[in-house]
Amino acid sequence: MRKNQIIVVYGDNPQGMVKTLLQTIKPEEQLPRGAKIGLKPNLVIGKPASSGATTHPEIVEGIISYFQAKGFHDLRIMEGSWVGEETERAFQVCGYRELAAKYQVKLVNLKKDDTVKRQVGDISLTVCSSPLEVDYLINLPVLKAHCQTELTCALKNLKGCLPDSEKRRFHRLGLHKPIAHLSAILPTHLTIVDGICGDLTFEEGGNPVPMGRLFAGQDPVLIDSYAASLLALDVEDIPYIPMAAELGVGETSLSAMEIVEVNPEAKTPGTFRLSRQAQSLAKYIDQRQACSACYGSLIHALYRLQEEGILGNLKLGEKGIKIGQGFRGVKGEGLGVGVCTRSLDLSVPGCPPSAREIRDFISKRL
Ligand code: SF4
Repeated sequence: MRKNQIIVVYGDNPQGMVKTLLQTIKPEEQLPRGAKIGLKPNLVIGKPASSGATTHPEIVEGIISYFQAKGFHDLRIMEGSWVGEETERAFQVCGYRELAAKYQVKLVNLKKDDTVKRQVGDISLTVCSSPLEVDYLINLPVLKAHCQTELTCALKNLKGCLPDSEKRRFHRLGLHKPIAHLSAILPTHLTIVDGICGDLTFEEGGNPVPMGRLFAGQDPVLIDSYAASLLALDVEDIPYIPMAAELGVGETSLSAMEIVEVNPEAKTPGTFRLSRQAQSLAKYIDQRQACSACYGSLIHALYRLQEEGILGNLKLGEKGIKIGQGFRGVKGEGLGVGVCTRSLDLSVPGCPPSAREIRDFISKRL
Protein backbone atom coordinates (compact mmCIF):
# COMPACT_ATOMS: atom_id res chain seq x y z
CA MET A 1 0.00 0.00 0.00
CA ARG A 2 1.31 3.46 -0.91
CA LYS A 3 1.01 6.42 1.42
CA ASN A 4 -1.17 8.37 -1.03
CA GLN A 5 -3.69 5.53 -1.30
CA ILE A 6 -7.01 5.27 0.50
CA ILE A 7 -8.64 1.86 0.32
CA VAL A 8 -12.45 1.84 0.49
CA VAL A 9 -14.73 -1.11 1.19
CA TYR A 10 -18.53 -0.86 1.00
CA GLY A 11 -21.14 -3.03 2.68
CA ASP A 12 -23.06 -3.59 5.87
CA ASN A 13 -21.06 -6.41 7.51
CA PRO A 14 -18.26 -4.63 9.44
CA GLN A 15 -16.32 -7.78 10.29
CA GLY A 16 -16.29 -9.07 6.72
CA MET A 17 -15.53 -5.57 5.40
CA VAL A 18 -12.49 -5.07 7.61
CA LYS A 19 -11.12 -8.48 6.67
CA THR A 20 -11.46 -7.54 3.00
CA LEU A 21 -9.54 -4.33 3.74
CA LEU A 22 -6.75 -6.17 5.54
CA GLN A 23 -6.51 -8.83 2.82
CA THR A 24 -5.95 -5.96 0.39
CA ILE A 25 -3.42 -4.06 2.53
CA LYS A 26 -1.60 -7.10 4.00
CA PRO A 27 -0.17 -5.25 7.03
CA GLU A 28 1.35 -8.45 8.41
CA GLU A 29 3.99 -8.34 5.67
CA GLN A 30 5.57 -5.31 7.38
CA LEU A 31 5.65 -6.90 10.83
CA PRO A 32 8.11 -9.20 12.55
CA ARG A 33 6.75 -12.28 14.33
CA GLY A 34 5.79 -11.40 17.90
CA ALA A 35 5.06 -7.76 17.02
CA LYS A 36 3.08 -5.87 19.62
CA ILE A 37 -0.08 -4.53 17.95
CA GLY A 38 -2.23 -1.76 19.45
CA LEU A 39 -5.84 -1.10 18.44
CA LYS A 40 -7.22 2.35 19.30
CA PRO A 41 -11.00 2.53 18.76
CA ASN A 42 -13.14 5.56 19.55
CA LEU A 43 -15.01 4.80 22.79
CA VAL A 44 -15.47 8.42 23.76
CA ILE A 45 -18.58 7.53 25.73
CA GLY A 46 -20.45 4.43 26.77
CA LYS A 47 -22.91 4.28 23.88
CA PRO A 48 -23.32 1.50 21.30
CA ALA A 49 -21.91 2.00 17.83
CA SER A 50 -25.43 2.25 16.38
CA SER A 51 -25.69 5.67 18.11
CA GLY A 52 -23.02 7.04 15.74
CA ALA A 53 -20.60 7.71 18.62
CA THR A 54 -18.31 4.70 18.89
CA THR A 55 -16.35 2.21 16.79
CA HIS A 56 -18.24 -0.95 15.89
CA PRO A 57 -16.72 -3.81 17.94
CA GLU A 58 -17.23 -6.11 14.92
CA ILE A 59 -14.48 -4.13 13.15
CA VAL A 60 -12.08 -4.72 16.01
CA GLU A 61 -13.13 -8.38 16.13
CA GLY A 62 -12.36 -8.73 12.42
CA ILE A 63 -8.90 -7.21 12.93
CA ILE A 64 -8.10 -9.42 15.91
CA SER A 65 -9.19 -12.62 14.21
CA TYR A 66 -7.28 -11.64 11.05
CA PHE A 67 -4.01 -11.09 12.93
CA GLN A 68 -4.44 -14.13 15.17
CA ALA A 69 -4.98 -16.31 12.10
CA LYS A 70 -1.65 -14.95 10.77
CA GLY A 71 0.14 -15.94 13.99
CA PHE A 72 0.14 -12.57 15.80
CA HIS A 73 -1.05 -12.93 19.38
CA ASP A 74 0.27 -9.83 21.19
CA LEU A 75 -2.69 -7.55 20.61
CA ARG A 76 -4.23 -4.96 22.92
CA ILE A 77 -7.21 -2.63 22.71
CA MET A 78 -6.40 0.80 24.15
CA GLU A 79 -8.69 3.71 24.95
CA GLY A 80 -9.31 6.51 27.42
CA SER A 81 -12.87 7.85 27.17
CA TRP A 82 -13.57 11.54 27.43
CA VAL A 83 -13.40 13.40 30.73
CA GLY A 84 -16.55 12.51 32.66
CA GLU A 85 -16.88 8.97 31.28
CA GLU A 86 -15.43 5.87 32.88
CA THR A 87 -13.48 3.94 30.24
CA GLU A 88 -14.38 0.67 31.98
CA ARG A 89 -18.04 1.49 31.52
CA ALA A 90 -17.48 2.29 27.85
CA PHE A 91 -15.62 -1.01 27.38
CA GLN A 92 -18.62 -2.82 28.86
CA VAL A 93 -21.44 -0.93 27.13
CA CYS A 94 -19.74 -0.92 23.71
CA GLY A 95 -19.10 -4.69 23.76
CA TYR A 96 -15.31 -4.57 24.15
CA ARG A 97 -15.09 -6.44 27.47
CA GLU A 98 -16.86 -9.42 25.93
CA LEU A 99 -14.71 -9.14 22.80
CA ALA A 100 -11.45 -9.05 24.75
CA ALA A 101 -12.46 -12.11 26.78
CA LYS A 102 -13.48 -14.05 23.65
CA TYR A 103 -10.14 -13.49 21.90
CA GLN A 104 -7.93 -13.26 25.01
CA VAL A 105 -6.60 -9.80 24.18
CA LYS A 106 -5.70 -7.10 26.70
CA LEU A 107 -7.92 -4.11 27.37
CA VAL A 108 -5.86 -1.09 28.39
CA ASN A 109 -7.65 1.73 30.18
CA LEU A 110 -5.46 4.65 29.17
CA LYS A 111 -6.82 6.79 32.00
CA LYS A 112 -4.79 4.55 34.32
CA ASP A 113 -1.74 4.30 32.06
CA ASP A 114 1.75 5.63 32.79
CA THR A 115 2.54 8.87 31.00
CA VAL A 116 5.54 10.49 29.38
CA LYS A 117 6.28 14.11 28.45
CA ARG A 118 7.22 14.79 24.84
CA GLN A 119 8.31 18.03 23.24
CA VAL A 120 7.49 18.93 19.66
CA GLY A 121 8.19 22.44 18.37
CA ASP A 122 7.23 24.91 21.08
CA ILE A 123 4.74 22.63 22.80
CA SER A 124 5.23 19.96 25.45
CA LEU A 125 2.55 17.27 25.76
CA THR A 126 1.89 14.55 28.31
CA VAL A 127 0.96 11.32 26.52
CA CYS A 128 0.01 7.82 27.69
CA SER A 129 2.89 5.37 27.45
CA SER A 130 1.17 2.26 26.07
CA PRO A 131 0.36 3.61 22.58
CA LEU A 132 4.01 4.66 22.23
CA GLU A 133 5.27 1.21 23.17
CA VAL A 134 3.53 -0.89 20.51
CA ASP A 135 5.24 -1.87 17.25
CA TYR A 136 2.16 -1.24 15.13
CA LEU A 137 -0.65 1.15 16.10
CA ILE A 138 -3.96 0.88 14.26
CA ASN A 139 -6.17 3.92 14.74
CA LEU A 140 -9.90 3.13 14.47
CA PRO A 141 -11.84 6.39 14.49
CA VAL A 142 -15.49 6.95 13.58
CA LEU A 143 -16.37 9.26 10.70
CA LYS A 144 -18.36 11.94 12.53
CA ALA A 145 -18.86 15.61 13.05
CA HIS A 146 -17.63 17.46 16.13
CA CYS A 147 -19.29 20.38 17.86
CA GLN A 148 -16.02 22.35 18.29
CA THR A 149 -13.60 21.12 15.64
CA GLU A 150 -16.22 20.31 12.91
CA LEU A 151 -14.67 16.88 12.24
CA THR A 152 -13.42 14.11 14.46
CA CYS A 153 -11.64 11.31 12.67
CA ALA A 154 -8.03 10.08 12.52
CA LEU A 155 -6.09 12.94 14.13
CA LYS A 156 -8.56 13.82 16.83
CA ASN A 157 -9.12 10.20 17.87
CA LEU A 158 -5.59 10.23 19.29
CA LYS A 159 -6.84 12.51 22.06
CA GLY A 160 -8.00 9.32 23.76
CA CYS A 161 -4.27 8.58 24.32
CA LEU A 162 -3.98 11.42 26.85
CA PRO A 163 -4.57 11.48 30.61
CA ASP A 164 -7.67 13.45 31.61
CA SER A 165 -5.62 16.38 32.90
CA GLU A 166 -4.02 16.76 29.46
CA LYS A 167 -7.39 16.42 27.70
CA ARG A 168 -8.59 19.40 29.75
CA ARG A 169 -5.44 21.35 28.90
CA PHE A 170 -6.01 20.68 25.19
CA HIS A 171 -9.27 22.61 25.46
CA ARG A 172 -7.49 25.50 27.17
CA LEU A 173 -4.94 25.48 24.31
CA GLY A 174 -7.73 25.75 21.73
CA LEU A 175 -7.67 22.08 20.58
CA HIS A 176 -6.30 22.56 17.06
CA LYS A 177 -2.63 23.21 17.80
CA PRO A 178 -2.24 20.44 20.41
CA ILE A 179 -4.19 17.92 18.27
CA ALA A 180 -1.82 18.59 15.35
CA HIS A 181 1.25 18.31 17.57
CA LEU A 182 -0.01 15.11 19.19
CA SER A 183 -0.07 13.47 15.77
CA ALA A 184 3.61 14.33 15.37
CA ILE A 185 4.43 12.72 18.73
CA LEU A 186 2.29 9.61 18.35
CA PRO A 187 2.69 7.98 14.93
CA THR A 188 -0.02 5.62 13.70
CA HIS A 189 0.86 2.94 11.19
CA LEU A 190 -2.61 2.35 9.78
CA THR A 191 -5.94 4.13 10.13
CA ILE A 192 -9.18 2.26 9.48
CA VAL A 193 -12.19 4.58 9.61
CA ASP A 194 -15.57 3.28 10.73
CA GLY A 195 -17.90 4.92 8.22
CA ILE A 196 -20.82 2.58 8.87
CA CYS A 197 -22.99 5.19 10.60
CA GLY A 198 -21.01 8.06 12.15
CA ASP A 199 -22.74 11.07 13.57
CA LEU A 200 -24.14 14.06 11.71
CA THR A 201 -23.54 16.71 14.35
CA PHE A 202 -21.76 15.64 17.55
CA GLU A 203 -19.01 13.36 18.75
CA GLU A 204 -21.31 11.84 21.36
CA GLY A 205 -23.76 10.34 18.85
CA GLY A 206 -27.51 10.57 18.64
CA ASN A 207 -27.78 11.43 14.94
CA PRO A 208 -26.24 8.45 13.14
CA VAL A 209 -26.12 8.69 9.35
CA PRO A 210 -25.72 5.50 7.31
CA MET A 211 -22.62 5.79 5.12
CA GLY A 212 -22.02 2.08 4.44
CA ARG A 213 -18.25 2.03 4.16
CA LEU A 214 -14.88 1.57 5.83
CA PHE A 215 -11.76 3.23 4.49
CA ALA A 216 -8.11 2.88 5.36
CA GLY A 217 -4.79 4.53 4.76
CA GLN A 218 -1.34 5.11 6.20
CA ASP A 219 -1.43 8.93 6.14
CA PRO A 220 -3.73 10.27 8.90
CA VAL A 221 -3.67 13.79 7.44
CA LEU A 222 -4.82 12.52 4.05
CA ILE A 223 -7.44 10.35 5.75
CA ASP A 224 -8.82 13.41 7.59
CA SER A 225 -8.74 15.53 4.42
CA TYR A 226 -10.74 12.83 2.62
CA ALA A 227 -13.07 12.41 5.62
CA ALA A 228 -13.77 16.16 5.54
CA SER A 229 -14.97 15.85 1.95
CA LEU A 230 -17.33 13.04 3.00
CA LEU A 231 -18.95 15.35 5.57
CA ALA A 232 -19.14 18.29 3.13
CA LEU A 233 -16.46 20.17 5.07
CA ASP A 234 -13.45 22.08 3.76
CA VAL A 235 -10.01 21.29 5.13
CA GLU A 236 -9.49 25.01 5.85
CA ASP A 237 -12.44 24.81 8.29
CA ILE A 238 -10.50 22.29 10.39
CA PRO A 239 -7.20 24.02 11.26
CA TYR A 240 -5.56 21.01 12.90
CA ILE A 241 -5.41 19.21 9.52
CA PRO A 242 -3.18 21.74 7.70
CA MET A 243 -1.22 22.27 10.95
CA ALA A 244 -0.42 18.54 11.07
CA ALA A 245 0.64 18.69 7.42
CA GLU A 246 3.00 21.57 8.22
CA LEU A 247 4.56 19.41 10.94
CA GLY A 248 5.30 16.76 8.30
CA VAL A 249 2.71 14.22 9.48
CA GLY A 250 1.10 13.88 6.06
CA GLU A 251 -0.54 15.49 3.03
CA THR A 252 -3.77 17.42 2.66
CA SER A 253 -3.83 17.38 -1.13
CA LEU A 254 -6.63 15.21 -2.45
CA SER A 255 -5.42 15.71 -6.02
CA ALA A 256 -2.46 13.39 -5.36
CA MET A 257 -4.66 10.87 -3.55
CA GLU A 258 -5.49 7.51 -5.13
CA ILE A 259 -8.82 6.01 -4.08
CA VAL A 260 -8.97 2.24 -4.43
CA GLU A 261 -12.51 0.85 -4.21
CA VAL A 262 -12.13 -2.84 -3.45
CA ASN A 263 -15.76 -3.84 -3.96
CA PRO A 264 -17.72 -1.10 -5.76
CA GLU A 265 -20.40 -3.68 -6.58
CA ALA A 266 -21.23 -3.89 -2.85
CA LYS A 267 -23.01 -0.52 -2.92
CA THR A 268 -26.49 -1.92 -2.65
CA PRO A 269 -29.81 -0.26 -1.74
CA GLY A 270 -30.41 0.01 1.97
CA THR A 271 -33.17 0.89 4.39
CA PHE A 272 -32.59 3.93 6.55
CA ARG A 273 -33.53 4.45 10.19
CA LEU A 274 -32.90 8.12 10.77
CA SER A 275 -32.83 10.30 13.85
CA ARG A 276 -35.31 13.15 14.06
CA GLN A 277 -32.69 15.66 12.90
CA ALA A 278 -31.75 13.56 9.87
CA GLN A 279 -35.46 13.03 9.11
CA SER A 280 -35.92 16.79 8.94
CA LEU A 281 -33.38 16.75 6.06
CA ALA A 282 -34.82 13.62 4.46
CA LYS A 283 -37.96 15.56 3.55
CA TYR A 284 -35.88 17.19 0.78
CA ILE A 285 -35.10 13.76 -0.70
CA ASP A 286 -36.99 11.52 -3.13
CA GLN A 287 -35.18 8.19 -2.79
CA ARG A 288 -35.79 5.00 -4.74
CA GLN A 289 -33.47 2.13 -3.89
CA ALA A 290 -30.65 4.44 -2.79
CA CYS A 291 -27.39 2.99 -1.47
CA SER A 292 -26.47 4.15 2.03
CA ALA A 293 -23.11 5.40 0.68
CA CYS A 294 -24.99 7.84 -1.55
CA TYR A 295 -27.89 8.66 0.73
CA GLY A 296 -25.65 9.45 3.70
CA SER A 297 -23.56 11.79 1.54
CA LEU A 298 -26.70 13.69 0.59
CA ILE A 299 -27.84 14.00 4.22
CA HIS A 300 -24.43 15.46 5.19
CA ALA A 301 -24.53 17.86 2.23
CA LEU A 302 -28.01 19.08 3.13
CA TYR A 303 -26.95 19.59 6.74
CA ARG A 304 -24.09 21.87 5.63
CA LEU A 305 -26.41 23.84 3.34
CA GLN A 306 -28.76 24.21 6.29
CA GLU A 307 -25.88 25.42 8.48
CA GLU A 308 -24.99 27.96 5.79
CA GLY A 309 -28.61 29.17 5.88
CA ILE A 310 -29.26 28.51 2.19
CA LEU A 311 -31.15 25.21 2.27
CA GLY A 312 -34.47 27.08 2.32
CA ASN A 313 -33.61 28.56 -1.11
CA LEU A 314 -33.87 25.11 -2.67
CA LYS A 315 -36.83 24.99 -5.08
CA LEU A 316 -37.52 21.37 -5.91
CA GLY A 317 -41.19 21.06 -6.70
CA GLU A 318 -43.09 18.66 -4.52
CA LYS A 319 -40.82 15.61 -4.55
CA GLY A 320 -37.28 16.67 -3.74
CA ILE A 321 -33.77 15.65 -4.77
CA LYS A 322 -33.82 12.33 -6.59
CA ILE A 323 -31.41 9.60 -5.57
CA GLY A 324 -31.12 5.86 -6.01
CA GLN A 325 -30.91 3.00 -8.43
CA GLY A 326 -34.65 3.30 -9.06
CA PHE A 327 -33.92 6.44 -11.09
CA ARG A 328 -31.70 4.68 -13.65
CA GLY A 329 -32.89 5.70 -17.08
CA VAL A 330 -35.49 8.13 -15.71
CA LYS A 331 -35.51 11.31 -17.81
CA GLY A 332 -36.97 14.70 -17.17
CA GLU A 333 -36.80 17.75 -14.99
CA GLY A 334 -35.34 17.69 -11.54
CA LEU A 335 -32.12 17.48 -9.60
CA GLY A 336 -30.55 14.09 -8.99
CA VAL A 337 -27.56 12.81 -7.01
CA GLY A 338 -25.29 10.05 -8.27
CA VAL A 339 -24.68 8.37 -11.59
CA CYS A 340 -28.02 6.55 -11.35
CA THR A 341 -29.80 9.89 -11.97
CA ARG A 342 -27.68 10.99 -14.92
CA SER A 343 -30.64 10.95 -17.34
CA LEU A 344 -32.27 13.80 -15.41
CA ASP A 345 -31.72 17.38 -16.55
CA LEU A 346 -29.43 18.07 -13.57
CA SER A 347 -27.38 15.41 -11.84
CA VAL A 348 -24.40 15.37 -9.47
CA PRO A 349 -21.93 12.87 -10.99
CA GLY A 350 -20.25 10.14 -8.95
CA CYS A 351 -21.01 6.73 -7.49
CA PRO A 352 -21.28 7.86 -4.78
CA PRO A 353 -20.42 11.56 -5.00
CA SER A 354 -18.90 12.97 -1.83
CA ALA A 355 -21.02 15.21 0.36
CA ARG A 356 -18.75 18.12 -0.55
CA GLU A 357 -19.32 17.54 -4.28
CA ILE A 358 -23.08 17.49 -3.66
CA ARG A 359 -22.92 20.62 -1.48
CA ASP A 360 -20.88 22.51 -4.08
CA PHE A 361 -23.10 21.41 -6.98
CA ILE A 362 -26.28 22.50 -5.20
CA SER A 363 -24.96 25.72 -3.65
CA LYS A 364 -23.83 26.99 -7.08
CA ARG A 365 -27.45 26.78 -8.18
CA LEU A 366 -29.02 28.47 -5.14
S1 SF4 B 1 -24.99 6.43 -7.78
FE1 SF4 B 1 -26.50 4.76 -7.66
S2 SF4 B 1 -25.30 2.85 -7.49
FE2 SF4 B 1 -23.93 4.61 -7.06
S3 SF4 B 1 -23.97 4.78 -4.85
FE3 SF4 B 1 -25.53 6.16 -5.66
S4 SF4 B 1 -27.45 5.00 -5.65
FE4 SF4 B 1 -25.77 3.53 -5.42
